[in-house]
Amino acid sequence: MTAQSKEQRCVSLSQLSDLRLLREHAYIDGRWCSADNLQVIEVTNPFDGSFIGTVPNMGVHETRKAIAAAREAFPAWAALLPQERSAALRRWHDLLIENKEDLALLMTLEQGKPINEARGEIDYAASFIEFYAEEAKRVNVENITSHLPGRNMSIKREPIGVTAAVTPWNFPCAMITRKAAAALAAGCTMIVRPATETPFSATALAELAERAGIPAGVFNIVTGDPNPVVGELCGHHDVRALSFTGSTEVGRLLLSQGAQTIKKMSMELGGHAPFIVFDDVDLDEAVAHAVNAKFATSGQDCLAANRIFVQRDIYDDFLDKYAKAIADLRVGNGIEEYVEIGPLMHDRAVAKCEEHVADARAKGARVVTGGKKMGGLFFAPTLLADVTDEMKIFSEETFGPVAPVMPFDTEDEVVAKANDSEYGLAAYLLTKDNDRAARVSNALEYGMVALNCVKITGAPVPFGGVKQSGLGREGSRHGLEEFTELKYVCAAYK
Ligand code: NAD
Repeated sequence: MTAQSKEQRCVSLSQLSDLRLLREHAYIDGRWCSADNLQVIEVTNPFDGSFIGTVPNMGVHETRKAIAAAREAFPAWAALLPQERSAALRRWHDLLIENKEDLALLMTLEQGKPINEARGEIDYAASFIEFYAEEAKRVNVENITSHLPGRNMSIKREPIGVTAAVTPWNFPCAMITRKAAAALAAGCTMIVRPATETPFSATALAELAERAGIPAGVFNIVTGDPNPVVGELCGHHDVRALSFTGSTEVGRLLLSQGAQTIKKMSMELGGHAPFIVFDDVDLDEAVAHAVNAKFATSGQDCLAANRIFVQRDIYDDFLDKYAKAIADLRVGNGIEEYVEIGPLMHDRAVAKCEEHVADARAKGARVVTGGKKMGGLFFAPTLLADVTDEMKIFSEETFGPVAPVMPFDTEDEVVAKANDSEYGLAAYLLTKDNDRAARVSNALEYGMVALNCVKITGAPVPFGGVKQSGLGREGSRHGLEEFTELKYVCAAYK
């Protein structure tokens, strides 16, 4: 869909109660900036292509300015008492909550997700700031029992320095705060390069960081095409850590770019979650979980249930109920309160859904409901039955509202199939048998396992994957490790 003219600005912007939250500039060293060459990127609403605004199309030079500002700001920020950093983070958190409606509206307009999901994401994003505001006070020193005579041995956790975050469009606020709150709490400064499609959630976060009194240079936003900006962040020796959330393909590229300066890299990459339903479950509950686990964010979620395995004796009943629940999902403009499924982000996302459905169909899968484009960037919520491991959808992320279901007979068989993936982010397991639950969750090669539930994320828990789903963890006290270095001091005091 092409952008409409600037005269036809998205009408829903008028619902913002604080228009200053729509910032059309980058934020570097506490200043709102344009690109040196004044070029801009247009941002449109995926629901109807209406024009939301522009952000600067910055490049290498502006990125270097942001890195210099973050380096300049680092010593003073790191030297603050932990409770002082904590207080600034706490004010930032409170401002997110106070401005939740506006932030959610901006997110829905640029990302398309239903407004209730956007509100949930603002709470989720704010929860990381609150958590790390507390954790800032607990970056403790550890003492070691000395193995050498007359020595005092200790380990300190120090902030790594200037850090960078590169974030995706599917969670435009939370993927920033999950990184930035940990980095700032540890005493680091940060440059964020948000996804091209969703910069306004990022610039609104910067506006609130400024209002919260976070000093100039501590939190910076550089908007622009990915190659020059992210390339510079990866290649610059003053950036000591880079945290990326996005596809495995781009993560691999950034790892190689960061290798030149031996940067600490953390990677939250793709997922292809198995969702295993044993025959002892409550069927209605299993179906409700399968709807939530697959269709949140219209299926554009790294935790989406992408391979749904159902034990054969309940397979047909499960399909009947799941098809009905999927057909009942209300599709439309995310700003309408009743809408459960919004548009996809790009034409290529719609094309991928079509490709996966066509490939599966050609290889013997049944389309039980949906299966088609609905105009614009909409794809009908779809149930594919009798999926097999020869189909593309078995091994590739669809990143759309297509639920592939397949039967299984034995525990060993389903564990082998679930682990048959290059990804290892999250897995779901539904059974009432506690012994089986323990055996299967031990056998699953995943960073996170959800047993008889779907919502598992949150600030206190370590989010992250194994295999090609990533490196490192975000959230929890482990999230601080990505932004700190250990310093060992061996002292012979005189
Ligand atoms: P993406 O990899 O295309 O983009 C992620 C970010 O990288 C964006 O800011 C993008 O502009 C930038 N980018 C793209 N190409 C680049 C390049 N050549 N050089 C430098 N930067 C580049 O991913 P996406 O489409 O935005 O997000 C979807 C992917 O993210 C899915 O694979 C999903 O599973 C994954 N994801 C993972 C998590 C997690 O926490 N593990 C969370 C959300 C999304």
